[in-house]
Amino acid sequence: MTIDLHTHSTASDGTDTPAELVANAAAAGLDAVAITDHDTTSGWAEALAALPAGLRLVRGAELSCLSPDGRGGHCNVHLLAYLFDPEAEAVVGNQARVRAERRNRLATIAGRMAADGLPVSADDLLAGLPPDSTAGRPHIAMALVRAGVVSTVDEAFARYLNDRGRYYVSSSRTPVEASIEMIARAGGVTVLAHAFAHRRGPTVTAEVIKELAGVGLNGVEVDHPDHDAEARSQLRDLADDLGLITTGASDYHGTNKVIRLGEETTSPEMLDAIIERATGVEIVTRS
Ligand code: AMP
Ligand code: FE
Ligand code: FE
Ligand code: ZN
Repeated sequence: MTIDLHTHSTASDGTDTPAELVANAAAAGLDAVAITDHDTTSGWAEALAALPAGLRLVRGAELSCLSPDGRGGHCNVHLLAYLFDPEAEAVVGNQARVRAERRNRLATIAGRMAADGLPVSADDLLAGLPPDSTAGRPHIAMALVRAGVVSTVDEAFARYLNDRGRYYVSSSRTPVEASIEMIARAGGVTVLAHAFAHRRGPTVTAEVIKELAGVGLNGVEVDHPDHDAEARSQLRDLADDLGLITTGASDYHGTNKVIRLGEETTSPEMLDAIIERATGVEIVTRS
């Protein structure tokens, strides 16, 4: 059983359309895949319509959140949300607001770069986004690649788009406790994404994860490409102590990252635990 519970499509900052994503997941030999675009469910319908026979589809999203960091400050975290009701009013409102703010942010970053003579246009970038999709820095990175300014998305981040770069603008964030409660009320299951990915920037402490478990967090993503062996073993021990679900996933972004579908995986028992707790929408398979 190969189960990959964290992937992105063109509904956010991946490069596969939702239809291509599920086709590629089947071709990669996956038995189950989750579509988890940043702050949107707009890829769900296309992924569902194109679902190849035998592949189980877990509909989800990855929410941009702000968390206490456990050291008296705050840090950005990503919350994976699975099988929630996409029409729950709070979810619709929250995601629409986050997406609108992220489009404004994309325009601000692109405008600053254009003012410095870089060949990016905020209007062109926004016009190129699918409806209800989520704008992110990778869209600017891809524009820089297309313009020949850099040769890869990674190089664009290293030279222009990283959090310490001169063009960086922080993005809209929802408090993680509120997001956990919102998804629980919408019948979904929450898993904290890449919580100890230290190379991405400041991370939460184990104490914070314990507090989040107290407000209803269901699981932690353990096997993630940005987690080293120490991070994985710390998270696994913590999940054991707290009775949390543990997952593994590639965080596939198509050609924007080098990770393959199914490179990290979740056990069938853990997927069953997610399905058991969820009451929003069902996991889908076509015969
Ligand atoms: P944003 O959500 O706009 O702040 O952009 C963050 C997104 O950019 C993440 O979800 C990653 O997919 C992507 N990302 C961050 N750092 C890099 C990098 N060095 N190379 C490629 N993609 C990156
Ligand atoms: Fe992303
Ligand atoms: Fe993430
Ligand atoms: Zn992701």
